[in-house]
Amino acid sequence: MSTKNFEDLIKEVHEKGICQECGGCVSFCSSAQYDIIGFKDPYSPPEYLHKDQCLECGICYMICPQTHILDSELNKTYKFTNYGSMPVGNFDNIYSCQATDKDFLEHGTDGGVVNSILNFMIEKKLIDGAIVSKTQAAFSREASYAKSKADLLQSSGTILDVSPQLDAVHKISTYTHTIPGLNRYKFKKLAVIGTPCQFNSIRCMQDLGVTPSENIEICLGLFCYENFLFGKSQIERFEKDFNIKFSDIKKINIKEDVIFKLKDDGNGEKIIHIPFNHLKEYMRPACNACDDFTNIYADISFGGLGSADKYTTVITRTEKGKKLFSQVLDAGIIKCADLDSSKKKTMIELISRFSHSKIKRKEEFMKNSK
Ligand SMILES: Cc1cc2nc3c(=O)[nH]c(=O)nc-3n(C[C@H](O)[C@H](O)[C@H](O)COP(=O)(O)OP(=O)(O)OC[C@H]3O[C@@H](n4cnc5c(N)ncnc54)[C@H](O)[C@@H]3O)c2cc1C
Ligand code: SF4
Ligand code: SF4
Ligand code: SF4
Repeated sequence: MSTKNFEDLIKEVHEKGICQECGGCVSFCSSAQYDIIGFKDPYSPPEYLHKDQCLECGICYMICPQTHILDSELNKTYKFTNYGSMPVGNFDNIYSCQATDKDFLEHGTDGGVVNSILNFMIEKKLIDGAIVSKTQAAFSREASYAKSKADLLQSSGTILDVSPQLDAVHKISTYTHTIPGLNRYKFKKLAVIGTPCQFNSIRCMQDLGVTPSENIEICLGLFCYENFLFGKSQIERFEKDFNIKFSDIKKINIKEDVIFKLKDDGNGEKIIHIPFNHLKEYMRPACNACDDFTNIYADISFGGLGSADKYTTVITRTEKGKKLFSQVLDAGIIKCADLDSSKKKTMIELISRFSHSKIKRKEEFMKNSK
């Protein structure tokens, strides 16, 4: 039997509408230096760029999260059985935390915990740097390499005085193609921050031992219910439906719903909550076929859901993740809210509810897909 390759990915994944556009195949193609495949359009699945040079090695097919070839290997490594018994994935403990550094807390998406941990790792030389996502405009970010506190602050959740040039952009997405960035940087020890779809393909690469995945020191995963994609007409509709001007959005938090914090218009900061089901038409279509909410293959997962304002929910998973988290606590760069076992149980139940809802969404979508 011949090895399945990118041609098969097109038929079995792209044409079925289930490509998550994670960028794993592009980044880890055996001939990535020749640009065999790539994103011609950043908002559509990758395509052949130089098909004649394809080695037909099958790496892209093996590592695609949507072919599920390596699921059982990964599940063994990350001690995951199924969502029925483990809606949140295998985990060690759950916390609700906040940065003690006032800059990371002030600019952080939630408690500024992710960037505090990255900064700690850079200062202690546990990593050379991190691939993060830098704010370009409201809703719009791009992959960048951070190796200092200043770089990290530019990648924090708050939109830092960036005026959105909405007329100049064709589409705006909350999703950032961070994985294709992996090949661009010379590094030995790297931290990656990413969504569940991105870490699924990174873990497949590590399982196969494909370069440069061996340089990834730690995977800090974000919860992800969905990402958004706005074309011009959708921006106009969004502004009309919710009475929010895109250029007024200062910050977005995602908890039980999507929380928009708007610039102070002289009458104080305005906060608008929009339920996920009111934002369906703005969801990135690729997210329909995704069932992992809490980033089950990360070393540590982070989200807003379950924690109070200005706190980040933290789920430690692997031995590496546990060790790092305890170093960070000992160093005093983050502090944890006092949670007894009943509060932790309530958090897990809430997060499990969102996990189940995402699994159900995928099941419905797959039933109706070609
Ligand atoms: C696209 C997206 C969807 C999310 N969906 C949910 C959700 O449904 N429910 C929930 O509870 N939490 C969700 N989160 C996580 C939540 O918004 C916070 O990122 C998390 O709680 C960490 O907050 P913090 O203040 O500790 O992080 P910070 O200290 O502010 O650090 C955040 C880090 O994330 C990086 N980052 C930001 N955007 C991206 C991106 N698009 N891709 C990769 N890295 C990025 C930044 O570069 C920064 O390094 C989502 C995050 C993102 C980026
Ligand atoms: S899901 Fe990711 S790895 Fe699979 S085809 Fe799409 S971009 Fe490539
Ligand atoms: S060279 Fe290998 S990894 Fe790259 S597109 Fe061809 S089959 Fe896929
Ligand atoms: S929901 Fe999140 S993890 Fe899933 S495909 Fe969309 S961006 Fe990726």
